Amino acid sequence: MSRADIRELAVPSTGIQRGEVVVPTRVGDPVHGLLSCPAGPLVAGSLRARGRPVRFADLSGEPSADTDADARLFLVTCPREEGGTSAVAAAAAPGDALSAAAARAAVEDWAAVCGNRSLLLAGSPWCSGALHAASAAVQAATDHQGGGHQVYVLTPAAMPPEAVTALGDLGAIVTDALDDVEPGAVVLFPAHGVTAELRAEAGRRDVTVIDATCPLVATAQAAASGAAERGHHVLLVGPPDHAATDPISSQAPGRVSVVDTPAKTAAVSAGNGGGVSYLLQPGFPLEAGAPIVSALRSRYPAARPAVPAETCYAPSDRAGTIYSVALGSDLMLVVGDPRSSDARHVCALARDAGTKVALIGDAADIKPAMLAPVRTIGVAESTSAAGGLAARVLDALSGLGRLTVAQRRLSTEKVAGALG
Ligand code: SF4
Repeated sequence: MSRADIRELAVPSTGIQRGEVVVPTRVGDPVHGLLSCPAGPLVAGSLRARGRPVRFADLSGEPSADTDADARLFLVTCPREEGGTSAVAAAAAPGDALSAAAARAAVEDWAAVCGNRSLLLAGSPWCSGALHAASAAVQAATDHQGGGHQVYVLTPAAMPPEAVTALGDLGAIVTDALDDVEPGAVVLFPAHGVTAELRAEAGRRDVTVIDATCPLVATAQAAASGAAERGHHVLLVGPPDHAATDPISSQAPGRVSVVDTPAKTAAVSAGNGGGVSYLLQPGFPLEAGAPIVSALRSRYPAARPAVPAETCYAPSDRAGTIYSVALGSDLMLVVGDPRSSDARHVCALARDAGTKVALIGDAADIKPAMLAPVRTIGVAESTSAAGGLAARVLDALSGLGRLTVAQRRLSTEKVAGALG
């Protein structure tokens, strides 16, 4: 789009202050009528980056004749994928030349990158275990709201932000210790389980337990316990600080060694005359675990898997999804908190595909220069993303021209019995 495509209109100046730029949520356009402005957060981001005070407002009042007494509205229109037209716009108060120049410049910047694009969305970052625990927690809090039983959710309560908000609204309390739990309360165990000690302590107390431990974690816990009972030493393959590590290793005190790199297998001391089993920690990607298992097998050739057929594919599926979305995109937008290790991990996966990556914590973090040569945008959500942020990013991008959206999610399904 060229500068010539940008129109300058006079609009009623009601409420627009000198020194500020108003980004409209809706405008009245003499050519197209009432238009929405989904790209407003992008325009506002550009203006705020230049230090301009910005406010959103509905400017859908009838544009007036071009007189000096009215506010100046700069506007460019784009077709929408679902039909109709949207506007990219900004306005300044009458006689405020500096704000008018900033408003025009911001609209020009975004007009330059308006165009038709495809968007490839990576599926939800939340696995079935986390979603199940979140839904059990919200259900428990709903059932007991106002009923005299306080609901406590034990950490780490990894769950979507919408569930965290719902739990807060319902009065549930997230805690990391049973000491905080009052008698008669309802206590929810999280997806990655609790230690054997904590489970036993809960059993001794006057509390009702809702066990939302993911079945794959529960199976690994039982496998560790069973292997130890057979006199085996268990090599737990995964990071020591993972949420499932203590809940699994506590099932066989003194008989579990946690190994998170192939090099560390050299330092493992297992066996002592008994057998050796290994266990891939649920939640640890298969690809990361495979070289460690291989190193352990070299050291302990008789070692056998403690759970032959139960593997959590969620992290591998997620990694594969992100990689393939990045592979098909010119730019990968990773939506999340820059301080989060999950967000950095998602960025690294996308970079492995050789794709340009931008980590954004808000739609306003998208800059026009990021989109300049881009036809296909990948979007992957980190577990650290604020609730609804990915949807807001999609909505904002949909205001820059026709945007076709596809979602990709790799999923490994169990087909037991289907091959016989
Ligand atoms: S074991 Fe897998 S599916 Fe279960 S909670 Fe952990 S990551 Fe999710």
